[in-house]
Amino acid sequence: MHSKEIQTAEKAMLCPTYARYPLAIARASGSTLISPEGKEYVDLLAGIAVCNLGHSHPELVETICAQAAKLIHVSNLFYQEEQVTLAERLLQTTHMERVFFCNSGAEANEGAIKLARRYMREVRKEERFEIVTLSGSFHGRTLATLTATGQDKIKTGFGPLPDRFHTVPFGDLAAMDAALGDQTAAVLVEMIQGEGGVRPLPESYVRAIAELCATRGVLFMVDEIQTGVGRTGKFWAHQHLDLLPDIITVAKGLAGGLPMGALLCSQEVAQGFPAGSHGTTFGGNALVCAVAAKVIEIIERDALCARAAALGQWFKGRLDALHTKYPAQIAEIRVHGLMIGIELRFPGATLWEALLERGFVLNLTQDVVLRLLPPLVITEKELEDFVQALDQELSRC
Ligand SMILES: *Cc1c(COP(=O)(O)O)cnc(C)c1O
Repeated sequence: MHSKEIQTAEKAMLCPTYARYPLAIARASGSTLISPEGKEYVDLLAGIAVCNLGHSHPELVETICAQAAKLIHVSNLFYQEEQVTLAERLLQTTHMERVFFCNSGAEANEGAIKLARRYMREVRKEERFEIVTLSGSFHGRTLATLTATGQDKIKTGFGPLPDRFHTVPFGDLAAMDAALGDQTAAVLVEMIQGEGGVRPLPESYVRAIAELCATRGVLFMVDEIQTGVGRTGKFWAHQHLDLLPDIITVAKGLAGGLPMGALLCSQEVAQGFPAGSHGTTFGGNALVCAVAAKVIEIIERDALCARAAALGQWFKGRLDALHTKYPAQIAEIRVHGLMIGIELRFPGATLWEALLERGFVLNLTQDVVLRLLPPLVITEKELEDFVQALDQELSRC
């Protein structure tokens, strides 16, 4: 089908939830997206931080085919070797001791919220159920996770929302301090707000939050759904600061493009989830687990975390040069491995469109932030081509 036919056909059938890019993708390989008409784009988005190994990585294709022929799904009524193989690899990346597999980021955060409440009530025997999050955060689209999200625009029309969630202003430690009471179960934060515009929590701030949690008996939960799996130059973003969260959630990059999420916790906290307390039909099926295990194996073998760090460092130098050249157009460059925000001093829609027209796929978030989440295997040349295109377009702004 041609792009136009696809666009027209979907309008007649799909819920109009998405403001789509004016572009259909028919195929993809490495860091290249290809439209039905054969036009090629440099993929600086990786399916929103999902395809960290690039598209159709030959070893992932091979793993998918082999595993599909062996076992795809039997449900969590059964023991499966693929789950323990993945659990072992995933837990080795952290200080965590237990994992729960699910299907998406929202579901991982939903699980974390449920676990925090149930652990407090059933294990610690404390009436703690409040969840505290930050303004500008994004934690998902289920009722609990959109309530946790610190952006009003995604809540419109969905009330009444679940009770006892509090959002405090980003960066305001006194407000956080005041929000943590004897009914607080957990604080949930992203290390770098992704959807919120690639905004890192200042180091002293996030350390102080973790310390407040520890002294008040509150669980410190880190949403690594976008920042995890090598994106920021370490396997987990919180590892840049040697923090030890009580619960970590992950999804996007975990299974290389197959839908998968997980929450990780200590043995102690995992007691909040005894048999029958929580579950999922699809979560952690043999196919996604085999693929996720392969993703982690390749990230480690090919040292992709270090690659993301080094490439990000080089790219930052190139973008800083553009910042110096265009101080009236660029407000700030924020680079954390291959999680990149270019904050403009003007609404970026026209610039974003011009870059798309030139063959570069990236995201515009919060109206003024160009967000880049390229595959961790992207080349210096592809990034340099983007810098050249951005340079030319900025000279016209
Ligand atoms: C994408 C994202 C989510 C939601 O993940 P879904 O898989 O879309 O449900 C939650 N938190 C963060 C930080 C995200 O980036």
